Amino acid sequence: MKFDVTGLKSFIPTQEIEQLLESTRNAEATEIRDIIAKSLAKNRLSPLETAKLLNVQDPELKQMILDGAHELKEKIYGNRIVLFAPLYVGNECINDCVYCGFRKSNPQCLRSTLSHDQLVAETTALVDSGHKRLIMVYGEHPQYSPEYIADTVRTVYATKHGKGEIRRVNINAAPLDVEGFKVVKAAGIGTYQIFQETYHEESYAKLHPSGPKSSFLWRLHGLDRAMEAGIDDLGIGALMGLYNWKFEVMGLLYHTIRLEERFGIGPHTISFPRIEPAIGTDFTTHPPFMVSDDDFKLLVAVIRLAVPYTGMILTAREPIEIRNEVLNYGVSQIDAGSSIGVGDYSGKDDGSKSKSQFVLGDTRSLDDVIFELAQGGYIPSFCTSCYRAGRTGEHFMEFAIPGFVKRFCTPNALLTFAEYLFDYSSDRTLKSGMDLIEREVNAIEDEASKATVKEYLEKMKAGKRDLFF
Ligand code: SAM
Ligand code: SF4
Repeated sequence: MKFDVTGLKSFIPTQEIEQLLESTRNAEATEIRDIIAKSLAKNRLSPLETAKLLNVQDPELKQMILDGAHELKEKIYGNRIVLFAPLYVGNECINDCVYCGFRKSNPQCLRSTLSHDQLVAETTALVDSGHKRLIMVYGEHPQYSPEYIADTVRTVYATKHGKGEIRRVNINAAPLDVEGFKVVKAAGIGTYQIFQETYHEESYAKLHPSGPKSSFLWRLHGLDRAMEAGIDDLGIGALMGLYNWKFEVMGLLYHTIRLEERFGIGPHTISFPRIEPAIGTDFTTHPPFMVSDDDFKLLVAVIRLAVPYTGMILTAREPIEIRNEVLNYGVSQIDAGSSIGVGDYSGKDDGSKSKSQFVLGDTRSLDDVIFELAQGGYIPSFCTSCYRAGRTGEHFMEFAIPGFVKRFCTPNALLTFAEYLFDYSSDRTLKSGMDLIEREVNAIEDEASKATVKEYLEKMKAGKRDLFF
């Protein structure tokens, strides 16, 4: 692969962002109200408007932003939460990101890459717990070539067990060149995620001292290359704690605008992980720009309002209480029952060194997460139907097409939830989940849809699977 950055320029206007954050400290309540109203009318916010939201200090105005994000979520997306699991394929890495347990110079990292059989065993374990959607994660290493990544994706799709299978594989791996992205696309991936980590170029240089990832521009333009290769389902993200979080939210927004302007389509998902402690990684115990819980809630709400059409991912890095709270402010996808050590789902760690990248905040099982979601009135969803029916840009359609959520998303969420309950759940989750399904089916307004959902549920009770709208 050629890491050629000739002619590339940054599209992150550092000074402009700093000026915007400096000059928007005293927005009036009426301005904040108008900005929220613009977002609720399904418009992406401008950098100026977003900076005003980010700078709000007054508790009442902050509450107004949290309430606005909540309203947007309820109004547009309803009460579904999509579930997935990470699958770590290999932690060999030639980079030295100072915050990561997999970095090259970490002697406490036990290096490991799944063999073909181990990958099948990991996938089987995930299928057997009820998962349908994965994100496959790779360190950056010549061993993990585009062909290798594509092969591992194919292996996962080909692994069937019992009544289950993985129906959507997303990727979190290093940025590739255009040819490499084409190879991975051909394996049928869903989203390709690349986090910029920090959009602050000077900080980026200090935090990524060596390896291909030390090039800010190569990474920043990574998703442009993915688009050029025909992958239009992309995830952006920033690792919160490396620099001022308000700057990072602005960076995510400018990246969004870049993709919209150049390709006519924004990011499919935005991620905003906070740094977690990693073994052998002192940096993570005192990140220079730690984000408090209160700021984190505002950060989630502002992203929701700033880019109302995008999916928002919250991972099990966060503790349960935070996860439960920020679900209200617009998160659409969470992982559950996650293990982030290479081989952890099917094997045992020897405990002496670490194969994990960092430490998780939420270690509940998938079944426990599902139980609690159902108790809280959320519909856990494993839906993959848009992607498989060729309706690409699923999240955007939910947002843009009136009635889409009612016609497709809610019925499909209920059907995939029922599959989980029939095949994998504990007794308490089955009971709570079936009650929820009954209430939700009865609430479907369109009589024809309601009848079809009921018909499909009966067929599923008789053993049919993978029925969707
Ligand atoms: N190696 C690829 C890369 O760096 O893009 C992809 C996999 S990397 C393991 C996935 C993400 O983990 C990184 O983009 C980074 O944001 C996140 N990460 C690294 N160290 C972390 C930590 N200590 N706490 C939370 N997230 C971390
Ligand atoms: Fe390697 Fe990715 Fe970790 Fe950096 S974040 S050390 S590239 S695995």
